[in-house]
Amino acid sequence: MSEMIFLLLLFGLPAAVGFKLAISRGKNPLLWGLLSGIFPFFLLVLHFHRPNKEIRGHFRKCGQCGRMFPWKDAACKYCGTSVSDSEIV
Ligand SMILES: [Zn+2]
Repeated sequence: MSEMIFLLLLFGLPAAVGFKLAISRGKNPLLWGLLSGIFPFFLLVLHFHRPNKEIRGHFRKCGQCGRMFPWKDAACKYCGTSVSDSEIV
């Protein structure tokens, strides 16, 4: 029984993290969750990946420089352009 818990933690934990990361980056969560469970290395790939399209609630595309920055940031961290109030949801 303890082996089951061990396996669940060993594969389930990175898989769950990969699942969530994949959603925030607009990737297939099932595929990336599975990959991360087997090779936790993929968590790093996901972590440093920036989506090339805007993902509501996760990444916003800067209207000035066109780069992606975290949705919750009030201003672009690359060029400093602030997000207009109408765009903040
Ligand atoms: Zn910018």
